[in-house]
Amino acid sequence: MAMEHHKFNRRRTLKLGTAGITSLLVNPSLSSQYLVKKREFSYQQPRVIIIRFGGGVRRQETINIQGTSAPFMRHILAKEGTLFSNMELEQSKNVTTSHGQGTLYILTGKYQKYEEKFLSDRFEPTVPTLFEYLRKQYHIPEEETLIINGEDRTSEEFYSFSNHHSFGVNYRSQVLSLYRFKIHLLKKQILSNQLSDKVLEKKQKELEKLQQKNYRLNQELSEPFKLTQFWEEWHKIYGETGLVNPRGDRLLTELAVWAIQRLKPKLLMINYNDPDYVHWGYKSHYTLGISIIDQGIKRLVNTIKLAQEYRDNTVFCIVPDCGRDSNPFLAVPYQHHFNSKSAHEIFALFWGKGIKKNQIIERRVSQIDIAPTIAKIMGFHADYAEGKILEEVFM
Ligand SMILES: [Zn+2]
Repeated sequence: MAMEHHKFNRRRTLKLGTAGITSLLVNPSLSSQYLVKKREFSYQQPRVIIIRFGGGVRRQETINIQGTSAPFMRHILAKEGTLFSNMELEQSKNVTTSHGQGTLYILTGKYQKYEEKFLSDRFEPTVPTLFEYLRKQYHIPEEETLIINGEDRTSEEFYSFSNHHSFGVNYRSQVLSLYRFKIHLLKKQILSNQLSDKVLEKKQKELEKLQQKNYRLNQELSEPFKLTQFWEEWHKIYGETGLVNPRGDRLLTELAVWAIQRLKPKLLMINYNDPDYVHWGYKSHYTLGISIIDQGIKRLVNTIKLAQEYRDNTVFCIVPDCGRDSNPFLAVPYQHHFNSKSAHEIFALFWGKGIKKNQIIERRVSQIDIAPTIAKIMGFHADYAEGKILEEVFM
């Protein structure tokens, strides 16, 4: 009894934020109270899936007809959509051609200077992300605006909201990643009351270590009930080891397919990243990474065609976070992305409902034009974005 009491106290001191998990463990019948549908202000616009063709890719290996390692995107999807073949990240001292920065330029529509402190990309945008505008205007629950994130770049988990005074954390998106799954499992194990003191202590330390990666405002890593259900199901299929589920960008595609089928997000962003492994110096990491993303895009297109809410009602926006160098003095010219000319050169492909087909736009456009364009597709104004709406996409 005394020991139980002791354990209980220690559990109480943890910031668990486990409404969903707790109700599941304490009384499964309670769970229905979390299913009460929040009123949506009748969102009638298309659903949008932003595919960050990430880890930094050049036009040469993506949209160049001869050089592409992404044949599905370039030869099939581009013909059914509008391709901006001359999109750039602005040449300015405020712009850095890298992953976290590019992701936030896409999400906010503004080239804000993000300082890297001690080689960390713990950035906080000062103007709202697309998620915040959308959720504020349409009262959409957080699990219907999602970022899907990889294993290596945990900071990007927390690009889900800005610190703008009239938006911010109350309108953030949720995130699906192995990081969130690990936190889900640890919280569940800790709350299960079935661990020895020694194991309990170990699990609590692991959890604290993971939670310390959250650098935003000490906000708890909340888990709405629908996400608890999501991870419970994932756990049943894939277990705990991480050895069964796909890894790298294939995992992101798998999570995205699950999300589309189960959580039905209105706005989904997938942060692909594998081509970036070419930093280590192996060319094949890059081209193979691009082809894995291409296969992922194909699978996502097939998935939405089978999902009632998405069929003929979805827009894809495919855009890199940044380009890569073309350095003739290196064995792998595209090994890095050091603010060179070609590291600024990207593209954007829009495809889906209401988007003009078989069109290539060659005028120079900017990465910050993505946010106001998506805002128009989704029926709101990105008031703080500084880019211009890409009017050519509309039929
Ligand atoms: Zn990189």
